[in-house]
Amino acid sequence: MPYLHAPEDLAELVGDGPAYRVAQLRSWLYETPVLQAGDMTNLPKDLRERLEPLWPFEVETEQTADGGATKKWLFRAPDGAAFEAVLMGYPRRVTLCISSQAGCALGCTFCATGQFGFERHLQAGEIVAQVAYARAYLRKHGLPGSPTRLTNVVFMGMGEPMANYDRVREAIRRMIEVMGMSARSITVSTVGVVPGIRRLTEEKWPVSLAVSLHAADDELRSRLVPINKRYPIDELVDAARTYFERKGRRVSIEWTMIDGVNDTDDQAFKLAGVAHHLKAHVNLIALNPTPLSTDRASAEPRIESFARLLREQGVNVTVRDTRGKDIDAACGQLRIKSTRGKGIGALSTAG
Ligand code: SAH
Ligand code: SF4
Repeated sequence: MPYLHAPEDLAELVGDGPAYRVAQLRSWLYETPVLQAGDMTNLPKDLRERLEPLWPFEVETEQTADGGATKKWLFRAPDGAAFEAVLMGYPRRVTLCISSQAGCALGCTFCATGQFGFERHLQAGEIVAQVAYARAYLRKHGLPGSPTRLTNVVFMGMGEPMANYDRVREAIRRMIEVMGMSARSITVSTVGVVPGIRRLTEEKWPVSLAVSLHAADDELRSRLVPINKRYPIDELVDAARTYFERKGRRVSIEWTMIDGVNDTDDQAFKLAGVAHHLKAHVNLIALNPTPLSTDRASAEPRIESFARLLREQGVNVTVRDTRGKDIDAACGQLRIKSTRGKGIGALSTAG
């Protein structure tokens, strides 16, 4: 499983061959990835055979939505850990949403991943392999009406990237330094693990930062996002503001619209204050209902008036389209329906 080796350690896999084999292999893995080692045409047959299985996971399910423009994969590692990635094609860009952990320990009430608890951290190679797999898929099959090049990667699948900092960092390094992606095309989304934001601030790469805020006062936020009790809003906003100042990258605020919970005019006014202070862009996204909660999405007119209120306060707002609704393409939902492995057993440990 070559993606579990650092790109600098591939010589171990190549064995006695000529020195240029290592560069050839690195190129097949990271620059022009292919779906099967058998397609690495300039490598000798015995080496290609030794490289199988190429991926550090099986593709347990592949689902398609939005007329083919959205693909969702559920990956299964040999130890049974399950995680997913969603590929979304648009006319001028293709975005891949990846996972940083199997499950998540932070237990946000409205999130399917959080409801099912933590399984394990993903290794750097398992994170990068999701990106390589999507690239290989795009090269081979493409998405209708979209570029064949992967333009953006967002850490908005399963898991909290800042809770798996070192491996996520190494995955980002490989994406930028080995795969040739630009730092700004990679977005790390965090629910507010402040020490992680501070560490990312010290890295040399200007990756994009998204803060999942969901509530603009500590009382409500601590109910929805338990980690808020440890890192309250003021600390989170301060860390995000420093990130913005040091990187010169506009931070985005993610806000899941939950009916009757965080969609009030009062929350909109408070959110406007935070957004101003951060000079942040706000993304509103309708809640995707989850099995272990009775929460529902805000109605469309409520989302529109919430957005209008923010705009009237001078805030930049986007109401995000919900891709892959019919395949539960948001946030750990596929794993719930899959009964193999530990997915359901994790229920008992849900935070
Ligand atoms: N742990 C990180 C990244 C993964 S979650 C974080 O929380 O930011 C990615 C995004 O999906 C977050 O913005 C999260 O708030 C959002 N999300 C989680 N559950 C959701 C749901 N049921 N419906 C809509 N968005 C959801
Ligand atoms: Fe974890 Fe993010 Fe889900 Fe919260 S929203 S439980 S941090 S994955």
